[in-house]
This record gives sequence, structure tokens and C-alpha cells, in this order.
Amino acid sequence: MLCPVCGEDNNRIIKNRKRYESNSAIRKRLCLECDKVFYTEEKLTKKYGKNK
Ligand SMILES: [Zn+2]
Repeated sequence: MLCPVCGEDNNRIIKNRKRYESNSAIRKRLCLECDKVFYTEEKLTKKYGKNK
């Protein structure tokens, strides 16, 4: 995940919060390049299917 401030890919997850009501996860990330904190959200986007 690229930092929205400096555009670098060098960051670390410092907090992971699950939101069960929307089946998603919020991640708090710290950019190791510019020392800024930002959040990303992970969601389920594909419907269930067979594992072929
Ligand atoms: Zn950055």
C-alpha cells in the first residue's frame, strides 16, 4: 500500500481493527519514510464461488 503523503511503499501496520458489521478491516499504518499515519480499509469484494 502506497503512502498517500510521500508515495512510498515502506510502511508498517500498527493497528488492525475488524468491523464485523460490514465484514471489513481497518488498518492503521505508519509510513517509515515520512513518519505519517494513515488508514486503509479492506473489504470483501468478490462473491463466493467454487475453488476450481
Ligand atoms: Zn510517507
